[in-house]
Amino acid sequence: MNNNELLNRLLGIQKLQVIKSDFIGEERVHLEVASILSVASCPDCGQLSNLVHDESEAQMIRDLSIAERQCYLVYRARRFKCEPCKKTFVERVEWKRANVSYTERYERYIYQRVRRESISQVAQDEGLSEEAVQGIFEYRAKKRRRHAAIRK
Ligand SMILES: [Zn+2]
Repeated sequence: MNNNELLNRLLGIQKLQVIKSDFIGEERVHLEVASILSVASCPDCGQLSNLVHDESEAQMIRDLSIAERQCYLVYRARRFKCEPCKKTFVERVEWKRANVSYTERYERYIYQRVRRESISQVAQDEGLSEEAVQGIFEYRAKKRRRHAAIRK
């Protein structure tokens, strides 16, 4: 198994592959990731497109720690062109919400911790601001309430 295959398995996010890794000091690891899919579906008409229009600047997406090192995914969101609609769109991914710099599973992890610990403790341990921790917690709490309401 080469290094990137090992990291792919550690990362365990389907549809993403690690193309580069960097250790930043003793406490951080950066994994540069790319989608393994060559197409994305248009949010307006549902048609699959393989025409990559451009890519965003690299975004740093916080993910679960690996062996006690803070882990960031270095990710470039692709913009595809939909021929039928004559429009471009940014691909959606299931491992992260749009316009948020955390993975879904990292948000879940923070939410679970805040249920047991204080916001200031979690913020300090994770190197986040208290506002960021509060924001994640409130988003997920709201989401859970919505799910509970649907089940009734
Ligand atoms: Zn379309």
